[in-house]
Amino acid sequence: MILFVINHAFHYETEKLARIFFPCASIDIKKEYCDTNEDFILTSAKYGASGAELEVKLSLNGVCEERKTFVALPDGDFDKDCELALAGLMFDMLCSVTGKIPPWGMLTGVRPSKLLRSLRDTLGEAAGMRRFRDVMRVSPEKAALALSVARAEDETAALSRRESFSLYVSIPFCPTRCSYCSFVSHSITSDAARKSIDSYVPLLCEEIRLTAGAAKRNGLRLESIYWGGGTPTTLSAPQLEMVLDTISDCFDLSTLREYTVEAGRPDTVTAEKLDVLKAARVGRISINPQTFNDSVLAQIGRKHSAQLVLDAFALARSRGFENINTDLIAGLPTDTEESFRNSVDTAIRMAPESITVHTLALKRSSRLVTDEGSAASDAETVKNMVDYANSALPQAGYHPYYMYRQSKSLGNLENVGWCVPGAECLYNVFMMEECHTVLSVGAGAVTKLKAPDENHIERIFNFKYPYEYIERFGILADRKKYIDEFYQKYPL
Ligand code: SF4
Repeated sequence: MILFVINHAFHYETEKLARIFFPCASIDIKKEYCDTNEDFILTSAKYGASGAELEVKLSLNGVCEERKTFVALPDGDFDKDCELALAGLMFDMLCSVTGKIPPWGMLTGVRPSKLLRSLRDTLGEAAGMRRFRDVMRVSPEKAALALSVARAEDETAALSRRESFSLYVSIPFCPTRCSYCSFVSHSITSDAARKSIDSYVPLLCEEIRLTAGAAKRNGLRLESIYWGGGTPTTLSAPQLEMVLDTISDCFDLSTLREYTVEAGRPDTVTAEKLDVLKAARVGRISINPQTFNDSVLAQIGRKHSAQLVLDAFALARSRGFENINTDLIAGLPTDTEESFRNSVDTAIRMAPESITVHTLALKRSSRLVTDEGSAASDAETVKNMVDYANSALPQAGYHPYYMYRQSKSLGNLENVGWCVPGAECLYNVFMMEECHTVLSVGAGAVTKLKAPDENHIERIFNFKYPYEYIERFGILADRKKYIDEFYQKYPL
């Protein structure tokens, strides 16, 4: 398909919009018109003394349509008005020609509730919601969901202070690799991979010590700790203990509100590891079924049964864990609406404190896309799955407290964290809403330094792969010195 972008600067926005309707199409952008027999979307602008005439022409599967609109020179932001008018025209025409009405409308960003909070802060809640629905074309159901999340996020975000920070610990190892995974995570099926954990853990502890020093020198206050990856509980109990002890020894935990470790794969959960976590004050863990359908689990490369999830969950409860999250994914290959509904109902019966419902995203680096092509659910099926979760979870007493969207998610749908009152994962909100600095350690981790009182963020990237992290640790340690420089530039 060709996207003609004639005489305007909105090629990024128009391409993103086209991708909502044609997620798998190859889109060739041309800045000059040429005759073609291919499907095309033509977007153009003619600027004059009184304003801009905007035009969209479509030729898709033999259906042709064209429409125009005019934007008069205003007092406000003329470029923004032109961008929204052109996008609105294109969106409405694509809906009419394809028969698809994307529930998130023209929104392409990852944080709908953040956008809504910002609109609400500038325009007021009612006008912000109107803009969300009327200008951005967000469906009333999704706008209401975003508003619920925005209100819940307000309460969590209010806990963050200007000197607050959170610590993220990356453990990029898993027992096996899931077919949809696009993270830098190494399955430990080989001896070499298992040995690399032995080299990784002491260096991670060294980076924790460096990071704790920077936090202390700069007067930062620790709010939350989150271990992700990967599957942190891929580490053995003594390895976990070494990292946990380093954190307790180096950081001041007296202000810590929440300590999460993802124990995502039930085949990594043992009583010994749970006891080590509990002894180190870890209060929140994740045990992630993704689905309770054994054949779907096998299809996505997970070497465990649904029963093992239930067993791991019961074990965690018996070892005293009172705050457990479980993740589900809508749209997994071979999953059906009925089976997904059963997964949601089983998760509700298990009664974790939070349930996070993701929509499958088809990432280019995942095996699902590279080896198998897209075998995932179609957009209509995944929409019905997500709609079911969005109605069953509130009825079971869960409310939505955080949300994000990924590019290439099926049906352009969302990921939502649901929880019972008081079980919001603070880290998820702090990180997603960029409330404060996140100091991150480990391979693939990204430190985000947030200037106090300003909407300014700088990043320090760690090496992506464990072997690079191990071999080039000295360079990484040098990069971390920038934390001090940052807080000299932006003092607390
Ligand atoms: S458990 Fe998560 S990080 Fe590990 S392979 Fe599966 S999707 Fe990737």
